[in-house]
Amino acid sequence: MATIRLDGKISCGRWLVSLTLFILPLWLPLAELPSAVAQEPTGGATEARAMVVVSPEALAIHARSYVFDGHNDLPWQVRTEASRSFDALDISKPQPQIHTDIERLRQGGVGAQFWSVYVPASSAESGVAHQMTLEQIEIVQAMMERYPETFELALTSADVERLQSQGKIASLIGVEGGHSIENSLEKLRRLYGLGARYMTLTHSDTLDWADSCSDEAKSGGLSEFGREVVREMNRLGMLVDLSHVSAATMQAAMDTSTAPIIFSHSSARGVADHPRNVPDEILRQLPADGGVVMINFYSGFVVPKSAENTRTMFERMRALRERFGDDQEAIRRESAAFRAKHPVFPGSVHDVADHIDHIVKVAGVEHVGIGSDFDGIGTVPKQLEDVSMYPVLTQVLLDRGYGEEAIHKIMNGNILRVMKRAEAVAAQAR
Ligand SMILES: [Zn+2]
Repeated sequence: MATIRLDGKISCGRWLVSLTLFILPLWLPLAELPSAVAQEPTGGATEARAMVVVSPEALAIHARSYVFDGHNDLPWQVRTEASRSFDALDISKPQPQIHTDIERLRQGGVGAQFWSVYVPASSAESGVAHQMTLEQIEIVQAMMERYPETFELALTSADVERLQSQGKIASLIGVEGGHSIENSLEKLRRLYGLGARYMTLTHSDTLDWADSCSDEAKSGGLSEFGREVVREMNRLGMLVDLSHVSAATMQAAMDTSTAPIIFSHSSARGVADHPRNVPDEILRQLPADGGVVMINFYSGFVVPKSAENTRTMFERMRALRERFGDDQEAIRRESAAFRAKHPVFPGSVHDVADHIDHIVKVAGVEHVGIGSDFDGIGTVPKQLEDVSMYPVLTQVLLDRGYGEEAIHKIMNGNILRVMKRAEAVAAQAR
């Protein structure tokens, strides 16, 4: 889930676009931007890049493995757009107004998915964060009960592999933000007991025990209780997810955790300078840590000029909230005006591949994965418009010289390795 929704509706697309190679400007006016039309950046920071045609070879490589994606916010869509009901949002039928449905998951070759049970950080203030998280888990359970031929709960790496062999989409649960445990290790264990297999330490707000990248620091990383949370997650076998946290929290968590860490949906700061992305000094420690950065597709994080604009927008929103308090109308008006001047350029699949290249260069091919953030983000790159489009990324990696083995590591092997290691650490601790 992007911290600030920068636009509203989302478009969908298909990866088989043309049999010829052609160039399109990437800043075509966007239907999904009601109040801000993205235009060509004057600095020339974004340039048109080639449309990708998916070859039979890339399709075959893609089909011989599967995608294991680190973050999809479909459960939040079901809550907010469909009153938590798969009758109102039946994903066995095409749902082009969102990023995800069963047919497109199959087209994209998705074989395992961490479904996010995100609830807003503000729910902690009203004391309902844990309760709402339980309700989001119920939505994932309802999805598996309704579509049992497609989805089944995976609690371990062995479950993922077994479900693969059965042609199902292994469904894992990821908790997005430590506010969901309400400062209680008992509640953390409860979420694990219900199937949660990662927890992002923070979302947009700094907690009593962990600092967010988009809020003031309180602990300079992790408090003593924060380190206790990480150790308990290690003991349980729950992955420590460092998307959304501050750089100091990343460091503190890596220093504390005895299992490899993950970033379930983050990209590289060395390509696009945004606090939601991972700095090089953290990437350089990944070979020793063993962890994996699963690349977020949001244009506002991956396209350099867009990242600059969303970073400015983050700061602006904070200032507006301070200035206008509860006056939502004033905040909406002021932020729309600001956004019109600082749009999010969609970029393309090539921008996402740039982040993969960078992490491979700094940390190695063992330490990068895919964490799209589909259905939690607004503007998406061209040719990565929804869950059907992953084969385009395989084509781009193939074009850039990645072999089949490397592509399969990026698509699923690396996160599976991290899960196995975390399971082994937990088994030892017990
Ligand atoms: Zn998020």
